[in-house]
Amino acid sequence: MKPFICIISILFVSSCTTPISVKANSTELTSHQISTIAKSDWIHGSENCKTNQESTFDVYKHDEQSFIIRQNKCLTFEAPFSYILVGAQQILVLDTGALSDNPEFSLYAELEKIIGKSQLAVKKLLVVHSHSHSDHYQGDVYFNGRKNVEVVKKSASDVRSFFSFSDWPQEEKTIDLGGRKIVVIPTPGHQEEAISIYDHHTKWLMTGDTLYPGYIYVKNWQAYKDSIDRLTHFTKNNAVTAIMGAHIEKQKSPNSYFPIGSIYQPNEANLDLTVESLQLLNKELKHHNKPREIILDDFIIKPMSSLQKMLSNTARWFTQ
Ligand SMILES: [Zn+2]
Ligand SMILES: [Zn+2]
Repeated sequence: MKPFICIISILFVSSCTTPISVKANSTELTSHQISTIAKSDWIHGSENCKTNQESTFDVYKHDEQSFIIRQNKCLTFEAPFSYILVGAQQILVLDTGALSDNPEFSLYAELEKIIGKSQLAVKKLLVVHSHSHSDHYQGDVYFNGRKNVEVVKKSASDVRSFFSFSDWPQEEKTIDLGGRKIVVIPTPGHQEEAISIYDHHTKWLMTGDTLYPGYIYVKNWQAYKDSIDRLTHFTKNNAVTAIMGAHIEKQKSPNSYFPIGSIYQPNEANLDLTVESLQLLNKELKHHNKPREIILDDFIIKPMSSLQKMLSNTARWFTQ
C-alpha cells in the first residue's frame, strides 16, 4: 500500500478508530455482559513497547478446531483479530491482520505451530476477509502462492463471484469445510463488500468491523441498517453463543473508550458481544432513517462524514 493511502486509511477508513466526540443522545444500555469466551485478557500492548517482549500473536484455543488470534498492540495499534476454523477437509482463515514485511509476522507460520504442518499439508486452506480494509488483509502475503492455499481476492466483485452470490446482499451462502458448515452473510454498511461469518460448530457469529466493542464507522447508512436487521433475523433462526468482531477499542467500564492509536489498553472490554446487544442496536436503528451517531453500552455507531466517504472511495480506487 502506498504511504498516502496508508495515512488515509489510518485516519479515516480502515482503522475504525477515528476520533469522535461522544454525545449522550441515545441512552438505552445493555447490562454488563459475561463473556462466553474463556479468554478475556488479551495481549493489549504496553506503556513501553520498545521493551515489550510479548509474542506477535496471542492465540486462544477454543477447542481442537477453533482458534482466535490477536496481533500484538505494540506491533500494530489496530491489534485485529483473526479466526481459524478447522474442518475435516478445509481450514477457514477469516482475516490475515495488519502485519507484513517481516518473517516474524507470518500468520501462516503461526498456523503451522498451532494446527500443525501435517494438517496444513493435507487440507485446503481458504483465506477470506471480513472486508477490504488493510488491517484485515496485510497478512495475505504469507499465504499467497502456497500449495493448498486459496486466498479470496478482496474486491466486492471477487467476493460475490467466489461465493456465487446472485442476490447480494439478501442471500446467504453456506460452505462446508468438511463436517463443519459455515454461513457467509453479506453485511455491507461499514464497507461495501463486508461479510459476516457464522460457524455452526461453535455457533460464533463473526462480524469483522460491522459490530465490535468500539467505534463502528458506517459508510452506507441504509445498507448498514439492513445488514443489522438481517443479522438480527439470522439470530432468531440460529443459536449464537458469541458475536465477535475484529477489534477491541472499549474499556471494561461503561461508555469508556481508549484514545485513538492506543498501543496500551489495560482493562479492555470483552471481545464478544451478546445477541441482546445486536437486537438493541437493530431496534435503535429502526428509529433513524438518517445517519446519526448512536451510543449504546457496548459500542458507538458513527456515520462517516462526506469527506471520510470521499477519502474511502479514493482509497478503494487505488486498492481494488
Ligand atoms: Zn474496517
Ligand atoms: Zn478494522
